[in-house]
Amino acid sequence: TAGDLCDVGLWGLAVMGQNFALNMASHGFKVVIGNRSPAKVDLTVARAEDEGNLPIVGSTSHEDFISKLSKPRKVVLLVMAGQAVDDTIAALAAHMEPGDLIVDGGNEWYPNSIRRAEELEKRGILFMGMGISGGEEGARNGPSLMPGGKRVAFDLMAPILNKCAAQVDDGACTGYLGPIGAGNYVKMVHNGIEYGDMQLIAEVYDVLRGVVGMTNADMSKQFARWNDGDLSSYLIEITAKILAKEDDVTGKGYVVDYILDKTGMKGTGRWTVQEAAEQSVAAPTITASLDSRYISGRKAERIEASKILNGPTEFPNVSKPQIIEDLGAALYCAKVCSYAQGLGIIKAASDTYEWDVDLSQCAKMWKGGCIIRAKLLDKIQAAMTNNPSLANLMVDPDFAQELNTRQLAWRRIVTLCVATGVPCPALSASLSYFDSYRRENLPANLTQAQRDFFGGHTYERIDREGPHHCAWTKKH
Ligand code: NAP
Repeated sequence: TAGDLCDVGLWGLAVMGQNFALNMASHGFKVVIGNRSPAKVDLTVARAEDEGNLPIVGSTSHEDFISKLSKPRKVVLLVMAGQAVDDTIAALAAHMEPGDLIVDGGNEWYPNSIRRAEELEKRGILFMGMGISGGEEGARNGPSLMPGGKRVAFDLMAPILNKCAAQVDDGACTGYLGPIGAGNYVKMVHNGIEYGDMQLIAEVYDVLRGVVGMTNADMSKQFARWNDGDLSSYLIEITAKILAKEDDVTGKGYVVDYILDKTGMKGTGRWTVQEAAEQSVAAPTITASLDSRYISGRKAERIEASKILNGPTEFPNVSKPQIIEDLGAALYCAKVCSYAQGLGIIKAASDTYEWDVDLSQCAKMWKGGCIIRAKLLDKIQAAMTNNPSLANLMVDPDFAQELNTRQLAWRRIVTLCVATGVPCPALSASLSYFDSYRRENLPANLTQAQRDFFGGHTYERIDREGPHHCAWTKKH
């Protein structure tokens, strides 16, 4: 009977899907679940029973799954991004009707979502691309949900999204971001900012460890102190916890010291950097973070290089409490740069594609549930609300003042890193970004002269209108 039908379906029951299904069910929505391999269906049904008889119903095929949904049908996909999404959509859509909705919650490359929406639109089926952040824990208890698609599609899902997203002081960490593609894009940039935040924290750790000479226990306490102030964020909080974790494999020392210095990645950081280039937006902090991951991956080469290439042998004598204090300021400033770059990429894409993305909404969505959640986002939200067409986050009056008061500390840290040979690619790239952006005059006059010299590319003059070309080698 109609009363037995489910409110929403979830297809794809790996880490994210399983937890998001339980999340929706725990908010009272009746959920039908499906997965390519049926074992995960049984497992999830069993978990739903264990967690208090949550209203979750299994299905045995794509057709059975669709037949258990009330109309208009709402289906959330959480399968591996790429071909698996196309295959799953094809199999499910065969049993769907005009007015039904598919929401892909994966980390999808946004042009794929645009293509799928166009294909499904021909059959009257609605489609949204919705970025989800928060990992396993977020998916279960409240993630950040970044949906893009037609407004009617969003409105169909909104009651579910508003309940299942993370909740912060001013509501749910979700909202309408814009047309198809916009949600995936904002999630992609979220991940790029995440790369930046993580690299900046790693650089600060490197200075604390190598230059200040702190123990893991002391570093953990320092990160915990930072987490009580302006730097308060999920990533700072887990850093404090990571540094305090003793190794239970050997029973000696700390886990962090046993972990190989080689980072993995899945591609969203690279996409962000590619997109920054595509949109002609400078994103040096995020780019430096991606480059650092590449260099970290070449462990064997670094071992060889360490025997051949030298660093400094004399070190400046700087007060350790001063370094620690300066590090906090430098980290804050660089983080502001990283967010400024990320928002700049979203703004440029939004202008290019006429998405009309509200940047204060992005900040609001990132305040809870997701990996980059941070106290700083309250200020970013306020800045973008006060002036939606702000040219760059750094010139918001409050942020400008904060950067101006901290910039000397930031310079001392970059100088210290250079002098001691500690790499600080993201901290220093951020500082150069700040210094380039705040300069009325850059040496680009010379660059443009060279372009005109060898390629006749012309240049603009400061004293008269129009393009000019100089006969550079002609003698007077
Ligand atoms: P995943 O490892 O990306 O994908 C596994 C799921 O995809 C399983 O349900 C699997 O089915 C299904 N699948 C794979 N190939 C398939 C195919 N050819 N046809 C049909 N189904 C196929 O799962 P996940 O980690 O839960 O992530 C799901 C999505 O969320 C991804 O886009 C991911 O990037 C995104 N995401 C993940 C996280 C995270 O922390 N893991 C966080 C945010 C976003 P079988 O069980 O049958 O193999």
